Amino acid sequence: MNRLVRAAIPVAAAIGVASLIARLRRAPTRSPLGDLRRPGSRPRVVVLGAGFGGLSAALGIARGSGDADVVLVDQHNYHLFTPLLYQVAVGLVDSNSITYPLRAVAYRNGIRFVLGEAQGFDVDGKRLLTSAGAIAYDYLVVAMGSVTNFYGLSEVAERALPLKTVGDADAIRNVVLGALELGDVERDADRRCRLLTFPIVGGGPTGLELAGALSALVGDVAGREYPGIRPEEISIQVLEAGGRVLDAMEPATQEIAMRRLRERGVEIRLNSPLSGVSGNDYLVGGGQRLEAEALIWAAGVRGSPLLERLPGQRTRDNRVLVDATLRIPDHQEIFVIGDSAACIPEPGARPLPGTAPVAIQQGTSVARNVRHLLRGEPASAFRYRHPGNLVALGRHAAVAEVLGLVVDGLPAWLLWRAVHLGWLTGLRNRLQVLLDWSLLYVAPRQTEWLRSATRLPPRIPGRRFTSVASERNSEANDSPLSK
Ligand SMILES: Cc1cc2nc3c(=O)[nH]c(=O)nc-3n(C[C@H](O)[C@H](O)[C@H](O)COP(=O)(O)OP(=O)(O)OC[C@H]3O[C@@H](n4cnc5c(N)ncnc54)[C@H](O)[C@@H]3O)c2cc1C
Repeated sequence: MNRLVRAAIPVAAAIGVASLIARLRRAPTRSPLGDLRRPGSRPRVVVLGAGFGGLSAALGIARGSGDADVVLVDQHNYHLFTPLLYQVAVGLVDSNSITYPLRAVAYRNGIRFVLGEAQGFDVDGKRLLTSAGAIAYDYLVVAMGSVTNFYGLSEVAERALPLKTVGDADAIRNVVLGALELGDVERDADRRCRLLTFPIVGGGPTGLELAGALSALVGDVAGREYPGIRPEEISIQVLEAGGRVLDAMEPATQEIAMRRLRERGVEIRLNSPLSGVSGNDYLVGGGQRLEAEALIWAAGVRGSPLLERLPGQRTRDNRVLVDATLRIPDHQEIFVIGDSAACIPEPGARPLPGTAPVAIQQGTSVARNVRHLLRGEPASAFRYRHPGNLVALGRHAAVAEVLGLVVDGLPAWLLWRAVHLGWLTGLRNRLQVLLDWSLLYVAPRQTEWLRSATRLPPRIPGRRFTSVASERNSEANDSPLSK
């Protein structure tokens, strides 16, 4: 027995020392970078933006190279999983389930995270200018995503509900539920119609996924939890400027998507660009009026205005033109990736689309190239591998393009769910989303307002929305509930 104990002691000690070394290697030093304003003793890579592209680049560099310090800068202290934003907007999942704390990611991977808003670039001095101060870099990776593109329709921008941030999703949820609340007791036919019309501008994946989810929501609650609303009174319309939806996908995929949504009562209006505002109404195409309280804008994105302060050329939608190694041609120390970049895979081709797989693969490529450059080796060209397409179309419906096949119905829907669950960052988020999805079969829909967002941001039609509410209050005797 004694011999056994004596033999076990060195083994336990060796395991203890090995695990301590492993922890020390993983944990960053207390003050890893010293003064960020000046160059450090080691090469420093500053990554602007912790979305799909930036996070993939920062992790790839931090995990793969012990020779550089990595600084990750973002205006939020969380990573946002945008593919499930539309589910937050219809109360299917909680917004906490699709955000992931950047501090935890940074700590575990020896990355220095800085919360700050980028405000400019001192390209000659090699410094990123942020609200938290200037940060010196040897290499800069710009991965700041995109902003909603209203194509110059400023009046529409003031009223429409974009879907780009967690706040946007919460605002859509409140406005849609608010319109149902008012529609439930409104007696005036025109006002009912206005409240119960939900146009979604843009026939891309986001617009269609939102339309499918919205139709499932109203199908669940109209005539039941909202007894004053008949399901057929609700109009969900997708307004697409072009002649087809899902422009970048196969014709068979487009056809399935339109059919499945129409089966669910969604009206798809092709060749119907939203052209402006007239009084309280919107204008479609040649001047047709559209009355709606909650109009959702999912019609496109453009590069952030800040990108104009970078050198080099930009596309019409303000994305920075990069070379094959994802760098600005005359500034080889600056990489631009993801939605911020226009990467043209071959001469004459269209730039790669603004999608998460493009951003993630570009982040991985940048990480590899930074390692090469630090070793004095040349950078290699980026090659995109398209993993396929997945579009959810409401309950138990989706369409998928995988391995050259177009898959429809329940198999595509199960695939959509499995892929998105696996893709989410963090075990806690995966479990929360799985729970939210499962609870839908046994528990009621979450139709309560989000109290934290009851004061609607000024950019959404809160004033008109509240004015309808206050008018209704002043006409309380007219309400069917008061009789
Ligand atoms: C509603 C919605 C649904 C989508 N669904 C899908 C989908 O299903 N599949 C798919 O492939 N793609 C989808 N996309 C597109 C996908 O989200 C983007 O293509 C992808 O996020 C681009 O990655 P990125 O790293 O370039 O930018 P992002 O992921 O947008 O990250 C940009 C980061 O930069 C930060 N940032 C921006 N400006 C500043 C600043 N001035 N200072 C500091 N930080 C800043 C932001 O906070 C953000 O964290 C969707 C997009 C939206 C809006």
